[in-house]
Amino acid sequence: MIQRDIDQLLSAVITQARALSIPVSSHIDPHVRLNRRARNRFGCCIRKDGGYLIELSARLGEEGTAEAVSQVLAHEVLHTCRGCSNHGPRWKRYAIKMNGAYGYSIRRSDDFEALGLTDDRPVRYLVVCQRCGRKLPRMKRSPLVDHPERYCCRCGGPLRVLDGDQIDLFDQF
Ligand SMILES: [Zn+2]
Ligand SMILES: [Zn+2]
Repeated sequence: MIQRDIDQLLSAVITQARALSIPVSSHIDPHVRLNRRARNRFGCCIRKDGGYLIELSARLGEEGTAEAVSQVLAHEVLHTCRGCSNHGPRWKRYAIKMNGAYGYSIRRSDDFEALGLTDDRPVRYLVVCQRCGRKLPRMKRSPLVDHPERYCCRCGGPLRVLDGDQIDLFDQF
């Protein structure tokens, strides 16, 4: 899919949300930014100059179906609603509305399989600080991954290791 097609899907998703009276921001950059580096998330909603910029994984843009791209864009667009910067009750309510009306499966986190992609991520373990939330992606096993209890975060907090399915693919880093 080329940039223009992706931008058109963004515009269509915004129209869909508005048709359901979901109060998405009127200051969303009409151009989706393709992110080539992020491998652990499919989309991201960034606050910028009092408005919002929606990012999409370049790989999803290239290999994903229009449905998969729209679903990820819709997920991110809902984050532009007031009180929806996280996946709280209000965001969830809007997601359920979009899913019911348009057949999406917007949820808190998505996975490669559901979006029709092969998981080629190098990150296999994610070490997370239980106090400050700092995330340390790791590509392979290491003493830290095997024994997080022997280490602590620079904030002094305890560390926990997530692997495989536990790694949340949206809004991760
Ligand atoms: Zn910490
Ligand atoms: Zn999200």
